[in-house]
Amino acid sequence: MMLFDPHIHMTSRTTDDYEAMAAAGIAAIVEPAFWLGQPRTHVGTFDDYFSSLVGWERFRASQFGIKHYCTIALNPKEANNSKVADSVLALLPRYLGKDGVVAVGEVGFDDQTAEEEKYFAAQLELAKKFDLPVLVHTPHRDKKRGTEKSLALVRSLGVPEHRVLIDHNTEETLPLVLATGCWAGHSIYPDTKMDEARMVALVKKYGTDRIIINSAADWGVSDPLKVPKTAIEMRKAGISDADVETIVWSNPIAFFGQTGRIDPSEIESPHYDQAELWEGNSVLRGQSPERR
Ligand SMILES: [Zn+2]
Repeated sequence: MMLFDPHIHMTSRTTDDYEAMAAAGIAAIVEPAFWLGQPRTHVGTFDDYFSSLVGWERFRASQFGIKHYCTIALNPKEANNSKVADSVLALLPRYLGKDGVVAVGEVGFDDQTAEEEKYFAAQLELAKKFDLPVLVHTPHRDKKRGTEKSLALVRSLGVPEHRVLIDHNTEETLPLVLATGCWAGHSIYPDTKMDEARMVALVKKYGTDRIIINSAADWGVSDPLKVPKTAIEMRKAGISDADVETIVWSNPIAFFGQTGRIDPSEIESPHYDQAELWEGNSVLRGQSPERR
C-alpha cells in the first residue's frame, strides 16, 4: 500500500527519516510552512524558508523517491509578531502560484488573539483569490473554542468548506468539523493528543469520509512513521484495506489535488538519481548514488 503523510516538517528531519519513510511505503508528503522554534526577526528569513520549501527540500525528498508538496503561509504563532507579520503577508503571493504549493497553510489560531484572527482572515481571502485549499492548525490550548472560531470564520468569509482541512483534531473537535463540509486531519503523536488506538476508534465510529491522518513530525518529540504505524493498527483492528487506503492515500490526494497540482501517476513511479545536483549541492557525502 502506498502512503501519503500530508503534514510533516521535513526541514527539521534527517536523511535517516527519509530512508525509513520511503522503506515504510510513504510515497508523498505535504510540508506546511510553520514556526521554526526560534522567533524570526526579519521578513527575509521567511523568504528564504519558503524558497527552501519549494526548492531544496523538494529536491531532497525526491532523492529518496518521495514526492514533496508544501503549503505556504504566515503561521498562527508569528501572526503575533508585528515586526514581520505584514511583510510576510505581502510576500505570500510570490509563492502561492508555484508548482508544488498545494494550499495556504498552516493558518489558524494559536493563543486565539485578535492579531491571529486578523491574519487568519487575510489569508483565507488570499486562498480564495489564488483558488487554493486551506490547511488550518487548531490550538493546543482551548482546542474546542479555537475549532469553533475557525469554522465560524471560514463560514463568514464564504470559503468553500470542501476546500478547508481543519487539522489536529481530537474526539472533542472531530464531530464539529464533520458537521460542516470541511475535511478533518489528525496528528498522531507519541504519547499525546492522538494515538494509533484512539484513531482506530474514531474511524470505527465515523468512517473514512473526509478523514485524514498525519505525523505532524517536526523539530520536537514526534515520529515521522506515525502514518504507516497507524495504518498497521487499523488493519489489525479489522478496518478493511480499502478503508485504510482511503485514509492514508486517496483522501489527501483528493483534498490537495483540488489544486490540479498533484499527478498521482508521477508519485506512483518515482525516478531519481542521487548523483543529481540542486544549485550545486547533492544529498551525498561521497557515497555511491542510488538510482531508480
Ligand atoms: Zn505543523
